[in-house]
Amino acid sequence: MTLDLKMFIDGKWTEAESGARYSLPNPATEATMGSAPDGQVADLRRAIDAARRAFDEGPWRRIDARDRGRLLHQLADGIERRKEEFRQLLIGGHGAEFITHPIQLDKPIDLLRNYAELATRFEFERPLPHTTSVTAAGEQLVSSVAYRQPVGVCGLIPTWNFPLFVTAQKIGPALATGCTMVIKPSPYGPLVDLLLAEVVEELDLPAGVFNVVTGQSPDLGSELSSHPAVDKISFTGSVGTGKRVMEAASRTLKRIHLELGGKSAQIILDDFDLDAGALSAAAPSYFHAGQGCAMTTRVLIGRERHDALLERMQNFVENVVRVGDPADPGVFLGPVIREERRQAIEGYIATGREEGATLVTGGGRPEGLEKGYFVEPTIFGNVSNLMRIAREEIFGPVVSVIPFDDEADAIRIANESSFGLYGGILTRDVKKGLAMAKQIRSGGVGINNASNLLYAPFGGFKESGIGRENHVWGMEEFTELQAISWPA
Ligand code: NAD
Repeated sequence: MTLDLKMFIDGKWTEAESGARYSLPNPATEATMGSAPDGQVADLRRAIDAARRAFDEGPWRRIDARDRGRLLHQLADGIERRKEEFRQLLIGGHGAEFITHPIQLDKPIDLLRNYAELATRFEFERPLPHTTSVTAAGEQLVSSVAYRQPVGVCGLIPTWNFPLFVTAQKIGPALATGCTMVIKPSPYGPLVDLLLAEVVEELDLPAGVFNVVTGQSPDLGSELSSHPAVDKISFTGSVGTGKRVMEAASRTLKRIHLELGGKSAQIILDDFDLDAGALSAAAPSYFHAGQGCAMTTRVLIGRERHDALLERMQNFVENVVRVGDPADPGVFLGPVIREERRQAIEGYIATGREEGATLVTGGGRPEGLEKGYFVEPTIFGNVSNLMRIAREEIFGPVVSVIPFDDEADAIRIANESSFGLYGGILTRDVKKGLAMAKQIRSGGVGINNASNLLYAPFGGFKESGIGRENHVWGMEEFTELQAISWPA
């Protein structure tokens, strides 16, 4: 499959004004799997103008919310119809292993359907208790409502690791609330959003509501974040870029929503079976080659069981985890997205060795895979939480196992991080797990690997971000609250 798609601006397919395109490699084979326009700031400005016009002058934000809901269902239907094309693109362009497809492919459809329902059920208007106000004529009784307007023109910057999922988290509430949008996909993976635009084109959506501008230049992101005609930025990416977005957005006090990185801890309590613990600790950390914001890449284990856990994790990694091209449904771990990202991961592996952590397995490039950006699944043991490999996000298949003294120490270590995105607790005592979860300073905690990616709020404490995605929390992010009062 090769795909050569155009950008979608103001309801029309378009090349970059410069005519430039760039090609995209399959990270498992390095073969070209398609190309996209290499848009520049001028192209982005055309899209922002179109979105501004569609918001200010078009019918979109004024139509009945039930119609927006119908349209979101049609969008979900359209993705479902073209699911196999999306699947091939996710495999070929993003190294998406089959085990990730329930999140890569099915969940985005669920998310859009949930936002379709919310378009009609969400409390856009809440009546408030009567009160009195004083006017020149004297005191009067007042009725009021709190009304939620769409926030306006949204700059959406999703990322490449779960591209359809992350885009759905943003366009779902943006469309449901009546916003207009300019999507600027990651330069690593723009084709998913362009294919999505093909689905959108078939809907009865006014021109300018949904725009996609692709390109390699970081200027696109900074222009979108600072442009005065953009009311809100919803960004998913690294902490460093998130800070730049916040700074640029501050010039016009834009609403910002930042979904950033993580270094989450999986705490294995003493009552949890070690064999199951090894699987539950290693498998989630290697999901999508560790390229996920919520991966539990710090594994915390009682000091006495540390060596026994390492032995079992090593056995799992060396005998069960199959590394290879994700086009093969039996592959557990595919490549990382690009060569420069592989080199950054290898840099962290070298740092871990220098810092004195024990390299238990992996650390190199897998044998027999000469092409593709593969990294061996890697385990470090005897890691101190102060080491760089425990403090910084590696975004690759590298796990750090850290010993703790007791449960209080485990919570202390889990919280000793500039991140606060996610976390896990493995225990046979769910009640105890719940009590511990409430002491962990992160946006989410999964007990025994349970997760809710549809209805639960998703987002970070501390430097993992600002704001929450999914369900009503996502709806709220895409609205502005307005108070309207009148004499009762
Ligand atoms: P990144 O920060 O390198 O890039 C993100 C996007 O920002 C890209 O589209 C890039 O072109 C753009 N960009 C570059 N410079 C910019 C600027 N000055 N202003 C605005 N945009 C600019 O991150 P990435 O490699 O795409 O994604 C990986 C990161 O995303 C990891 O840290 C991961 O944890 C995080 N992530 C978070 C979530 C979440 O929901 N919290 C989900 C997935 C990934």
